[in-house]
Amino acid sequence: MTNPTPMNGIKKPVRSGSGVTPLTVVLKPRKCNHGTCIYCPGGDYVPQSYTDKSPAVMRALTLNFDVREQVKARLNALMKMGHPTEKIELIIIGGTFLQYPLDYRYDYIQGCYDVLNGIESKNLSEAQKINESAEHRIVAMCIENRPDNCSVEEIKKMREYGATRVEIGVQILDDEIYKKTARGHKIKDVAEASQRLKDAGFKLGYHIMPGLPYSTIEKDIEKFKMVFDNESFRPDQLKIYPCQIVEDSPLAKMYKRINYKTYTDEEIKKVLARMMEIIPDYCRVMRVMREIPKEKMINGAASTSIRKEVEDELKRKNTSTKEIRIREVGFNKDGLKLDTKLKTIEYDSSGGKEFFLEIVNSDDILFGLLRLRFPKEEIFPELKNCAIVREIHIYGQALNLHEKGKDSQHTGLGKYLMIEAERIANENGYKKLAVISGVGVREYYKKLGYKLEGTYMVKSI
Ligand code: SF4
Repeated sequence: MTNPTPMNGIKKPVRSGSGVTPLTVVLKPRKCNHGTCIYCPGGDYVPQSYTDKSPAVMRALTLNFDVREQVKARLNALMKMGHPTEKIELIIIGGTFLQYPLDYRYDYIQGCYDVLNGIESKNLSEAQKINESAEHRIVAMCIENRPDNCSVEEIKKMREYGATRVEIGVQILDDEIYKKTARGHKIKDVAEASQRLKDAGFKLGYHIMPGLPYSTIEKDIEKFKMVFDNESFRPDQLKIYPCQIVEDSPLAKMYKRINYKTYTDEEIKKVLARMMEIIPDYCRVMRVMREIPKEKMINGAASTSIRKEVEDELKRKNTSTKEIRIREVGFNKDGLKLDTKLKTIEYDSSGGKEFFLEIVNSDDILFGLLRLRFPKEEIFPELKNCAIVREIHIYGQALNLHEKGKDSQHTGLGKYLMIEAERIANENGYKKLAVISGVGVREYYKKLGYKLEGTYMVKSI
């Protein structure tokens, strides 16, 4: 098999620089069932984990959290800014979606598809069917969730909605700290959720929170190592949000009594630099630092440019970080070499086996990736005897569906990676390959010989 050759000439607005245009919608305010984690703002009039000064929440507030109005407004704004809007990643933020009433959830998701389709549907499955060939397709969907809301039934629901990525709050793998910070779940819930979500093909993100009360820099690093050393965890992506004291949070009322201080900028940088060195090739840091407005912070705002400072420092010291985002072609267009090759990393993960396929050049710049899993358990009947592709992502500027590829998108890299995944699965005795596919990508997989089974695209190999 020949190596794939991406074409040169890359331009990008950053928002869509990773290939797909994100569209964020916010849930109406609702308290979490277990109570309030002590660092959570926990507002009554805004979603529990946000303040009324976060840009997305401010937008949603003016629209009374009406999801249809939110999608309309965001879509128009993205189009005005010149972003391609044929491939949308819908991101649902604001609370534990799986704890909202069932009717609200169905209506919410259906509303998103309906607005993007430009037509009202009778039910969710009709909305999804229309979206398969609509002008604005949902190619990926992310839901924020808690580790203890990932039962098989709940995961089935997430697939019904069309979700492809789940982010769970993990913060620190320490039962003692979970108890003292009122998280309401244990490490074992994180491990179980991770296995089920990966077995169902989801891309899995962890939220990590260094600097919690009762932790130390050493403990944060030790527990962070565990995230990757212990095969029960090993997420695909991370958001690293150092703990802050936010107005109205339980922590704001108790921090003096427990003699708690947040990390200084220097301490945050130290922790982040060490974390970046630990993160393996297969994991992407989506974001560092939460956007909490200065006036809402009791401890004063930490610098929002910390990530860049840490990355620059690592580069200066020539310290390697293998993290995905830093290696993506969209962020590395200067002097780009096109001597691409396929690299495959094999690792154990939550009782299954993962193959992380990357198209990289000789500087390790990443053009595309695919995550193939041999699951631990067949979580749904339609996944019987299936290996599963959990993610396929071609990096570079997002292109509309019929635009000709200028860099790595639409230049055949996706097809190349799928053929490779089919080969690996077949050589390991699997007769079928399933793909967790956003509703808007089903057409693409149909062209590659895949058929819809349950909510997955499946092919005999
Ligand atoms: S689970 Fe998330 S939203 Fe719920 S209280 Fe904890 S931090 Fe806040």
